[in-house]
Amino acid sequence: MSRRSRVDVVQLWDGRHVLARHEDGLPTFRFGAAPRGLATRRQLRAAGLRPGGHGPVAQIKWKRGRRWAALYRVDLAAVVRPMTPARWTAHKAMMRARRFCRTHMAYVDHCVVGPLKQCRDCFAADTTEDYPEMRAA
Ligand SMILES: [Zn+2]
Repeated sequence: MSRRSRVDVVQLWDGRHVLARHEDGLPTFRFGAAPRGLATRRQLRAAGLRPGGHGPVAQIKWKRGRRWAALYRVDLAAVVRPMTPARWTAHKAMMRARRFCRTHMAYVDHCVVGPLKQCRDCFAADTTEDYPEMRAA
C-alpha cells in the first residue's frame, strides 16, 4: 500500500528537525528510528500511560510498509486510570453484550462475530451473501 516517498526534513512539535518520509499524512520512520519523546500505544501502556485523547503525530513502518504503528507524544500522555469496582462492572457488562447472539437470542461462550452479531454456529449457518469476504476466515 505504501508508495516509496522521498525523505524530507520534518520539524517536530518541540522544534527539533529530523529526517522522515511523509506517508499517510504523518512523518514516517523506520523501525527503531523514531525520535525521542514518541512512543507506540503499547510502549505508553508499558509505562503506565495512555494517549489521553491525543492522536498520533507520527508513525513507524517496517516489513516494507506491511506493518506499522502510530506514535504518540509521551509528554502529552496521561496516566492510566486504575480499574475501580464500577469500571469492572461496566467492563463485564460490555463483555457480556459481546457474547449475545442476536440470531438465536441467547448468550454463548464466545464473542459474536459479523455485522449481524452472530455466534459461530449461526454465522456458519447463515447463507446471506451480503458479506462474503467475512466468510473467508
Ligand atoms: Zn447463534
